[in-house]
Amino acid sequence: MAANSIANITSLKILNAAIVDCNLCPRLREHSTEVARVRRRAYADWEYWGRPVPSFGDPKARVLALGLAPGAHGSNRTGRPFTGDGSGDFLYPVLYEAGFASQPKALSRNDGMQLTGLWISSVARCAPPGNKPTPEELRNCSPWLDRELSLLKNLRVVVCLGRIAFDGLLAHESRIGKLPARATFVFAHGAEYTLPSGLTALASYHPSLQNTNTGKLTRPMFLAIFNRARELAALHSIV
Ligand code: SF4
Repeated sequence: MAANSIANITSLKILNAAIVDCNLCPRLREHSTEVARVRRRAYADWEYWGRPVPSFGDPKARVLALGLAPGAHGSNRTGRPFTGDGSGDFLYPVLYEAGFASQPKALSRNDGMQLTGLWISSVARCAPPGNKPTPEELRNCSPWLDRELSLLKNLRVVVCLGRIAFDGLLAHESRIGKLPARATFVFAHGAEYTLPSGLTALASYHPSLQNTNTGKLTRPMFLAIFNRARELAALHSIV
């Protein structure tokens, strides 16, 4: 789909449906499909999603959690962001405790989970080999994020899960012409920046197993991020 057609998409639901049909990145499409075909032994009974993963949440969200890309055997399997892998097992209990999620466990896209005040998305929508999309693949996927952000009318705060998501948000601000000096925005866990567009960027380490198993990101640290996001979103609503 051409970028100008994406700009004509008028709802998050239609946007999600278009994302699922995207084929712009041959390497990522092949990888996601192959992982879905071979499957992991523990999930031999699953019919993997294997397509671009649509975003999930509350269309009236004031807070966006922006991730990197689907996990090969997590959301590439279940079809919902952060659902069915270690990152999600760390994220959703925190979202539940912070009042954004209706339940702490995310098992499948039919598990009844509902989000309130939160939307979850990522800078790449297809599972990449080694969890590393190329710069070109991130560029390919960026029009989806641009359109999504324009459709999230109540959005105030973006929790950037990891450096690549943080850079992806800054790149979005550059594309819409609202980021004159990108060098002043430095990624660090807990860093907050008011962006020229009016959004607040709140940086966090990504809840990858690599970070959570080593204690680089602990549950109290992560909960503090989402409690702060809620606080910032409420502050914006008063102004
Ligand atoms: S990563 Fe994004 S742009 Fe690339 S194929 Fe998937 S949905 Fe399309």
